[in-house]
Amino acid sequence: MLYAVNPEWRTHSSQDVNSQNDGKEVLIGGWIQQIRDKGRLMFLTIRDPSGICQVTLHQKNVSEVVWETCKKLTLESVVSIHGKVKADSRSKLGAELTPDSVIIHVVAEPKVPIDLTKMKTKMEIDTVFAYRELSIRDPDVAAVMNLKSIVAQATRKFFKQNGFTEIFTPFILTASTEGGAEQFSLDYFGKPAVLAQSCQFYKQAALSCHEKVFGLLPSWRAEKSHTTKHMTEFWQIENEIAFATDKEIMQVQEDLIAFIFTTVARDGEDQLAQLDRTISIPKTPFKKIPFKGAKQMILDLGVEEAQEEDFGATGESALSKSFKEPFFITEFPVHLRGMYYASNPTNPEVTRSLDLMAPEGFGELSSGGQRVADYKVLEERIINQGFEVSNFEWYLRMFRFGMPPHAGFGLGFERLVRWIANLSHIREASMFPRTPDIYSP
Ligand code: AMP
Ligand code: MG
Repeated sequence: MLYAVNPEWRTHSSQDVNSQNDGKEVLIGGWIQQIRDKGRLMFLTIRDPSGICQVTLHQKNVSEVVWETCKKLTLESVVSIHGKVKADSRSKLGAELTPDSVIIHVVAEPKVPIDLTKMKTKMEIDTVFAYRELSIRDPDVAAVMNLKSIVAQATRKFFKQNGFTEIFTPFILTASTEGGAEQFSLDYFGKPAVLAQSCQFYKQAALSCHEKVFGLLPSWRAEKSHTTKHMTEFWQIENEIAFATDKEIMQVQEDLIAFIFTTVARDGEDQLAQLDRTISIPKTPFKKIPFKGAKQMILDLGVEEAQEEDFGATGESALSKSFKEPFFITEFPVHLRGMYYASNPTNPEVTRSLDLMAPEGFGELSSGGQRVADYKVLEERIINQGFEVSNFEWYLRMFRFGMPPHAGFGLGFERLVRWIANLSHIREASMFPRTPDIYSP
C-alpha cells in the first residue's frame, strides 16, 4: 500500500514490476539510477524506496513524446512512469516496464558527485560520508536503515508486551552524570551545561513513578575514539526495573535479543538479502563468564593485557570472535565500573554487573547490572571515585527518601544494528553519523 502518496504520481512500487504482474498497468515513481543508451533502444533503472526495476524503451514501440522526454533524463532525475509490466526471463529482475507516459518531476544536474550506479568500484569511504545526503540513496543504506526501523519497532513491542513504560529523559544536564567518558559542554544562558552521556540517573529516578521502564534514547560522548564501534552521538536501548537484580536483567536481555532477531528474520528478509546477510536466532540462555575467566580466555587466545584492567579493543574482539552466540561477562571489579553498581555482598571487590557481548568479533553490546540503592553506600562510592558529592545533590536526595533495589542496562542501538547487518563500521548504522571527524551533513 502506498498510503499518503499522490495517486497521480505513484500507485505502485518498483517491486511490482515482476513476472507475476505480467501485462499489468502500473505507475511507479522514483530516481533514475542508471541510463544505458543504445541508440534506438534505451534502458533505465528506476530506484524507489522498495528497490529497483528496469524500464525498457524501443524507439519504435513508444510514443515520440515519451522517447523525447526520456532522452532529457540525467542520473538521479526524479520521474513518474506509467506503463505495462512485461515478464522477461532474460532480464535480471525477471520483468521490465514499457512506458506509455512519463512525468519528469526534476531533472538532476549532470555529474552527481558520487557514483550511485554501482557500475564502478566501491566508493571511497570518506566520500560516502562527505556526501552522505546523496550516498543514503544507495539501496544497501536503505536496507540498513529499514532494519534499524524494524529493530526499533521490535524493541518497543517487546517492552510493551512485557508491561514496561516508555520514558523520555532530559539531554541538557547541569553536572556530571557519571565519571569516565568525556562530556560535550554547552552554554545554557551563560551557565555551563553538558549533553547527556546517558540517561542513567533519570531512568533510575523514573522508578519512583513506574515499576519497569525502557527508552530508546540518545547519548553523547566527546571521546576521540577512532574505532569501528564508537561514535560521539549514539542511541541506547535503556532499561531499568524496580525490585529486580542482575539475574532478571540478564533474562530481559536474552529475551529481547531473541525477540528482535525473530522479528528481523521475519520482517527484514528482503533487507538481509540485499545485504547478503544470514542471521540465526540466538539460543537462550546465554553463557555467563565471570570477568576473571574472560580475562584468562583472552590470554589463552594469545592476547596479552593487564588482568585488572578493562578489556582492550584487541582482546575484546578476539574473545567475541571465539563465540558463535552472544554471551555475558559478569562480576566486573568495582574499580572498573560506575559508582552506581551494587557490589556482591560476599565479595565487595566485585560488582553485580555485566556486559552483553555479541559474537563474530562485534564485541560489547550493553552494560548493566544491579544498582546501589543505599544512600550511605552510594555517597561513599561517589567520594571513593573522586567526585564532588555536591554535584550529585538531587540524585543523592532521591536515595535519602527511599529507593527500592533495582537493576537495568543500556544497550548500544547502533552496535546492535551493526551486528545484525554485519557492517564493518558502526557509522554505517547511522543515517547521519557523528564521529570525531564527521559532524556534517
Ligand atoms: P556504557 O555505559 O559506556 O557501557 O554504554 C552502554 C552501551 O552503549 C555500550 O555497551 C555500547 O553498546 C554503547 N556505546 C557506548 N559508547 C558508545 C559509543 N561511543 N558509540 C556507540 N555506542 C556506544
Ligand atoms: Mg560498557
